Amino acid sequence: MNIHEYQGKELFRRYGVPTGEGYPAFSVDEAVEVAKKLDCGKWVVKAQIHAGGRGKGGGVKLASSIDEVKQYSEAILGMQLVTHQTGSEGKKVNRLYIEKAGSIAKELYLSLLVDRATSMVTFLASTEGGMDIEEVSAKMPEKIGQVSIDPVLGFHPFHTRQLAKILNFKDKDLQKQIHSFGKSLYTMFVEKDCSLVEINPLVITEDNELVALDAKINFDSNAITRHKDILEMRDMDEEDPAEVEASKFGLSYITLDGEVGCMVNGAGLAMSTMDIVKLNGASPANFLDVGGGATKENVTAAFKIITRDPNVKAILVNIFGGIMKCDVIAEGIIAAVKDVGLKVPLVVRLEGTNVEKGKEILNGSGMKIIAAESLKDAGEKAAKAAKAAQTAQSTQTVKATSVAKGEV
Ligand code: ADP
Ligand code: MG
Repeated sequence: MNIHEYQGKELFRRYGVPTGEGYPAFSVDEAVEVAKKLDCGKWVVKAQIHAGGRGKGGGVKLASSIDEVKQYSEAILGMQLVTHQTGSEGKKVNRLYIEKAGSIAKELYLSLLVDRATSMVTFLASTEGGMDIEEVSAKMPEKIGQVSIDPVLGFHPFHTRQLAKILNFKDKDLQKQIHSFGKSLYTMFVEKDCSLVEINPLVITEDNELVALDAKINFDSNAITRHKDILEMRDMDEEDPAEVEASKFGLSYITLDGEVGCMVNGAGLAMSTMDIVKLNGASPANFLDVGGGATKENVTAAFKIITRDPNVKAILVNIFGGIMKCDVIAEGIIAAVKDVGLKVPLVVRLEGTNVEKGKEILNGSGMKIIAAESLKDAGEKAAKAAKAAQTAQSTQTVKATSVAKGEV
């Protein structure tokens, strides 16, 4: 789960990690009010979306007067902000964060993550802050240093010394500051079950103070039930509505941009189904794992979520009946089709427990189903059906345009 920068900074403050002073704003009036409340002459107006690279995309502006705060807030609030992390369609800005502008002497990079190689929570630090860390990693990998924290030992002064070395802190005062900074951050990371904390940039101000100027925090979704305070920070506007709906039914669902809707059980089978679709020249419209213990209701919900996507030109159901029985799947499909109708071709491949019963149910339903016998067969048929539906649709569009133009 992700949270916004302003929420991340609230959490930082709770743990004693120094941040700039600022408040969120949900309207232009509120932004102006907040700016007046902050005792300063320069403000930063920051778009709050769950994506980085906002500065380059025009979502972070430095204002030198209350008038400018108003002007920038009007421009940013409601805009469709495009960054390298949002995709070309961008993300709508519904919240702002107004912060006192800091006087920056140097921008650095600091993050904490769970490192699989060492199986430890690990700091990544670099003197190259404020820019894309992926770019630093590609062009100057030697500029990124790592410090892993043994969970039994916890954070200690020798970790601080390693961090200070990576960040090139010769100054005693900065060395002291990075100790409490690192310790607080590590404590927060562990206590709140974070999966990533990224501060880019971490800055040294002109007063020689270490401040977190940005805050990106991800939490381990498996542990989120332990943290009601974090769960309250969830912003549904930032999440894909189809994925939110799917999570209510315990389905693992991710929207993709292809045209074959896939309903599969088991993550491995879901991945190979996506591969076989791709191999046949089409693309999956989603990843969906209905899980081992799915019920008729779950299957119905999954089917509805798939059919709601306008990009879906064909549906491929590929189920291996192990714990999950094929007849339950068949009943779920029929219930869903009765409810929402079937506007695109449906390819079904069932295998395993109660497969004959499942096929019987589908055959007896009177629904137009394309039966497939193997994974290969299913992939070919689904891709072919999707392409045929797409061609038919574009022919129709051409005809409609011609009619509209009076050519036919
Ligand atoms: P993003 O990473 O999404 O682009 P950041 O929060 O890192 O957003 O802001 C982009 C840049 O804006 C920073 O690298 C920094 O130079 C500047 N900036 C952000 N907040 C402040 C602030 N409070 N004072 C001064 N400059 C800031
Ligand atoms: Mg940043």
